[in-house]
Amino acid sequence: MGPKSFRAEAHKLVDWMADYMEHIEDQTVMPDLQPGAVKEALPELPPEKAESFDAQFQDFETLIVPNMTHWQHPGFFAYFPANASPPSVLAEMLTATLGAQCMSWNTSPAATELEVRMIEWLASMIGLPGAFTGVIQDSASSATLCAILTARERATRLESNRKGLASLGSSMTVYGSTECHSSIEKAVRIAGIGSDNFRKIAVDEDFALRAADLEAAIKSDIAAGFRPICVVAAIGTTSSGAIDPVREIAEVCRRYDVWLHVDAAWAGSALILPENRWSADGVEAADSFVFNPHKWLFTNFDCSAYFVKDAEALTQTLGILPEYLKAGQGSEVPDYRDWGIPLGRRFRALKLWFVIRTYGVEGLRERIRDHIACAKQLATVIDESKDFERLAPCHLALVCFRYRPLGNYNESEIDLLNQTLVSKLNKDGRIFLTHTRLNDHYTIRFSVGQTNTKWTHVSDAWDAIKAKAHELVELSEGARRNG
Ligand SMILES: *Cc1c(COP(=O)(O)O)cnc(C)c1O
Repeated sequence: MGPKSFRAEAHKLVDWMADYMEHIEDQTVMPDLQPGAVKEALPELPPEKAESFDAQFQDFETLIVPNMTHWQHPGFFAYFPANASPPSVLAEMLTATLGAQCMSWNTSPAATELEVRMIEWLASMIGLPGAFTGVIQDSASSATLCAILTARERATRLESNRKGLASLGSSMTVYGSTECHSSIEKAVRIAGIGSDNFRKIAVDEDFALRAADLEAAIKSDIAAGFRPICVVAAIGTTSSGAIDPVREIAEVCRRYDVWLHVDAAWAGSALILPENRWSADGVEAADSFVFNPHKWLFTNFDCSAYFVKDAEALTQTLGILPEYLKAGQGSEVPDYRDWGIPLGRRFRALKLWFVIRTYGVEGLRERIRDHIACAKQLATVIDESKDFERLAPCHLALVCFRYRPLGNYNESEIDLLNQTLVSKLNKDGRIFLTHTRLNDHYTIRFSVGQTNTKWTHVSDAWDAIKAKAHELVELSEGARRNG
């Protein structure tokens, strides 16, 4: 493809992109298709001869688009958002065009320096103190792995890197709540610490980690000869959006000289609102902190901001310098390859720069504030309804609830009703919801955060949920009557 046809095709694609954004609500949020159907429709072998771009684009339109889950649909209330925005998409086009590897300053000087500045901007936006520096990574999972590896090396004075875990006498232990994200246990496994040495601490009635139980667990582990190295506190758990008491946890970590990593993957974006800063109370005492602008800050996946207080501890843990990478530009600027797991790195700072400048911090605040207002309004409506109940506090933009019909239904019947409700709503295609289990109840998660979601979308969704729930109950009442 030469420059002339590239230009022509690119213009057509941009038109397609703008149309997609404009008419996204015509798509079903989640496709209704049989697993394997898309693969089946694809040729078994790659083409020997060149194919026209037209043919490729046609296949994209007929085979791919209708069979995607549309995360940018304002009726997407599942999981957490992975929201995007026009300036972010435009920046991704430029990033792809530059096609640069951002592993060291030398390989990408402007990208590296923009990344340093964007990390500073983000820190100031979310109120993180100046003691933190950072890096943009692909995911919170990677950042948490880096935190646990750094904690491991700090606790063993780089011995585990040098000699391997087998050389160490005692087992290390890591702590999170029973509600913490699965990426933490995964990191514990990858770091060679082992799932058996990952302690899941009990939570309170709001699903937040109990600091007193954490301290008791650390004490008893020390008495039993274990070496506690890291606690992961969550600001905004995935299941219910719970907020762990970071200040109290930090106090425990300080007493036992344990690394404190804060996982705010989703809720970190809401810290740009001064009225939400309470949720990060005590964060200045953490050793590391991660949040994902790719979740709720209008920046395309992937973009995860990892902040550390002691950058040297991180680069000592992950830095490795073969001859072919030596450049010697001094220590003025970082070589970000030493701040994460992979050597190669995408240019992720550009989209963040475009997003922040396009909306301004004020514009970003307005959008997130609006999402939270929608969620709180929905929570109120649920609280006022006779046959729905909320199952967790709504601190931010996640509402956890279930349908609880009037009449005689046991717990397993209520579970089944809610499960059927979610599956019928998703099949219908106007909205997409997912679930969790809280206190052993099947729980509907309603997460507000897609860039263009407004109260009308939430209120339409609520009407659809009510209508479908009542329809289901009428059906099951009918079935009961007919024996
Ligand atoms: C989404 C999420 C993660 C994982 O984020 P990735 O960037 O996909 O690795 C971790 N922790 C919490 C609390 C999350 O919500």
